[in-house]
Amino acid sequence: MKLLCEDGFLAGAIMEKKKLESFKKRLETRQQELRHMVTRNQKDGRAADDEATQDVADRAASSYTKEFLFSQSNNDRQLLNMVESALARIREGSFGECVSCGKEINAKRLEAVPWTRHCIECQEKAEKGLLEAAQ
Ligand SMILES: [Zn+2]
Repeated sequence: MKLLCEDGFLAGAIMEKKKLESFKKRLETRQQELRHMVTRNQKDGRAADDEATQDVADRAASSYTKEFLFSQSNNDRQLLNMVESALARIREGSFGECVSCGKEINAKRLEAVPWTRHCIECQEKAEKGLLEAAQ
């Protein structure tokens, strides 16, 4: 059965609108959570900085805390970036395509990690550091 959606595309030729909508919701929720965490970590980082620390052990603990919060918020920020660019791809209509080779990303993979940018093959290449060279 072939149906036309509002914008004239063949349903099924592109990702179903409903499905896309649910990805969008999940991504937007994640985006909000991450934004909160990033802001909260920034505040905590400053608080750790303000504590007047006397002895070396305290200072070490405080800098460890800062370090931890820093790397934590870096991860969050990175993820936030990925989530935001996934939302941008939804708007552009390229969501679900590998940004590198343009192939469709496996549905299960997308389901598990909706902000993923690469298909499995390109992800593996990227992890081996081969993707940059291939582009
Ligand atoms: Zn790919």
